[in-house]
Amino acid sequence: MIQMVNLKKQFEEIKEEVLSVSIEIIESGQYILGKYVKEFEEKTAAYLGTNYALGVANGTDALHLALRAAGVGKGDEVITTPFTFFATVEAVIYEGATPVFVDIDPVSFNINPELIEEKITPRTKAIIPVHIFGCPADMPKITAIANKHGLKVIEDCAQSFGASINGKKTGGFGDAGCFSFYPSKNLGAYGDGGLISVNGEALAAEIRMLRNHGQKGGYVHGAIGFNSRLDELQAGILNIKLKRIEEYNSKRRKRAALYNELLGGTVKCPSFGPEGYYHVFHQYTIRHPERDRLRERLKEAGASSMVYYPVPLHLQPALAFLGYKEGDFPEAERAAKEVLSLPICPELSEEDLRLIADVIRSA
Ligand SMILES: *Cc1c(COP(=O)(O)O)cnc(C)c1O
Repeated sequence: MIQMVNLKKQFEEIKEEVLSVSIEIIESGQYILGKYVKEFEEKTAAYLGTNYALGVANGTDALHLALRAAGVGKGDEVITTPFTFFATVEAVIYEGATPVFVDIDPVSFNINPELIEEKITPRTKAIIPVHIFGCPADMPKITAIANKHGLKVIEDCAQSFGASINGKKTGGFGDAGCFSFYPSKNLGAYGDGGLISVNGEALAAEIRMLRNHGQKGGYVHGAIGFNSRLDELQAGILNIKLKRIEEYNSKRRKRAALYNELLGGTVKCPSFGPEGYYHVFHQYTIRHPERDRLRERLKEAGASSMVYYPVPLHLQPALAFLGYKEGDFPEAERAAKEVLSLPICPELSEEDLRLIADVIRSA
């Protein structure tokens, strides 16, 4: 079976380094917020071009802590996309705030900035753009709207590590950028992990305090915080993969370009984005009205594919209390019915990619 991700093959290439750093960390006896987390935070901040980068336990916590630190709370409204992973709105609801959805652009699958302003009310506190599938959302427009209305911008960068617009990395546009190192993400740990990129010194200090039980230092607690720290072992492993992230992302882009060449004209292929956009293809997502049939044919031929996401958030049973109904966000609903993500990991061989493209063309 051709898998969506092949983490075992990736491990084989970095095995020596991973094992040696793992042994070193275990032997050191320092497992929480030690020198490897510090090194990873410094290197990631330098890579992303932000003043600070703070390791946390996972991507969901990154969003949650960033919202808390930005002052989002009970009664506030937070504008976001209905076409994303559930965690984006869980974090909003944890804080007692209300997610307010805005429909997507059908080409990028990202929030449509033209539709944001009509949803802004006196209660709106923040916007969470999600760089879905690794394609940057239109940050110049979104940050301009946010500045005009005095709103915070918390970027959901869980799928966009290394993506950029005109050389500026996602995670550096808003007040905070929230990353996930879930194993299958472009930069993945061997377990859970997350990170918040921040430029503002006060916001960084608040997050640093929140992630460690609200400690200001020496068992003096300035806030009711969380236990949400990036694990030292995961940081040691992430340091090794961070050195290769450009290579991993460029391999994804090469595979996307080949798919586009082989599939163009038969299905709707994903765009690389406008001039200056660096899309990192966390997912390679095509559109076709008969995607279930394509999926079946791929399965018969021995290739995995996935539907991200079959149910837009406004139609999720758990969010029924928000009062949305079918028809509210036509583009997100149509995308949910037509999308199909194909294997695009850096380890995917050209032979397997051509086989997948052949199956789709002949179907
Ligand atoms: C993966 C993901 C998250 C959550 O990250 P975890 O590390 O799994 O908590 C949040 N938002 C999006 C868009 C994601 O893809």
